[in-house]
Amino acid sequence: MKDINKEQALELLINGNKRFESGKSQYPNQDAKRRLEGLNGQHPFAVVIGCSDSRIPPEILFDQGIGDLFVIRVAGNIIDDAVIGSVEYAVKQLETSLVMVLGHNLCGAVQTAISGVEESKYIEVIAEKIQPAIDAVSVDETDYLDKVIRKNVELMVDKLTTSSQILNNSLKSGEIAFIGGYYDIATGKFEIL
Ligand SMILES: [Zn+2]
Repeated sequence: MKDINKEQALELLINGNKRFESGKSQYPNQDAKRRLEGLNGQHPFAVVIGCSDSRIPPEILFDQGIGDLFVIRVAGNIIDDAVIGSVEYAVKQLETSLVMVLGHNLCGAVQTAISGVEESKYIEVIAEKIQPAIDAVSVDETDYLDKVIRKNVELMVDKLTTSSQILNNSLKSGEIAFIGGYYDIATGKFEIL
């Protein structure tokens, strides 16, 4: 039996973000007592796979503290084998019940991938992962960048559950939920895609 189920986990994130965007953050679970609780292990209620962008720190924008979120950050919130392995660990070993891929407006990684000018083979690896989202959106569309960013989140959520048998089984059993999120760096608001 999980401490916090997937519905409760989503509610915690939504409420935390409401506090943050309205300037009413409570900064929970950040004291010495919470640190000491960590000696007995960790039970994060959600996995957040977010972009490395310095403007979207998950613990801050969801108003959470130590031990609350299992955070994986990589430019463009892309999913690769190491990310999948990290999510599997959280879901199987830590019994985390909600997995979110979090994109955001004005994402530099997506912009770079669209521009097609990658300065190194390592940046190219990231751009290649974003390419399917670029291919899925017509350049003529209004809010083109934003649409690619949203599509990228959607495809990354799909990739998690189609690549990993462990995650797919957990999804089918109803144990965990996978969602896509989108964060606006100006308003501080997060929405579910
Ligand atoms: Zn970004």
